[in-house]
Amino acid sequence: MSSGCILGNCSICDEFVYEGEWSEIAMETDSIFIHDTCQGKYFEGKRMNGYIKHLENENKALKEELKMIRREQHAEGVQMSAFREDSW
Ligand SMILES: [Zn+2]
Repeated sequence: MSSGCILGNCSICDEFVYEGEWSEIAMETDSIFIHDTCQGKYFEGKRMNGYIKHLENENKALKEELKMIRREQHAEGVQMSAFREDSW
């Protein structure tokens, strides 16, 4: 079981963090105070956030591309209908 001083609350699970239970890696990399047992969850969440950001950017770029394609198709459609009218 846990022993020693309570150093604070974990930013992930909000439970007390006792001496010897905190993640030095999380503190060094992000200055965040968490359990060493919550470290995996924290870094996985961070990785997922990065991935979500990447997907959001990609989604935005694809929407722009689709908008351009639709505009081009619309312009072509207008030309085609003009051509059809001319041929009558
Ligand atoms: Zn925790």
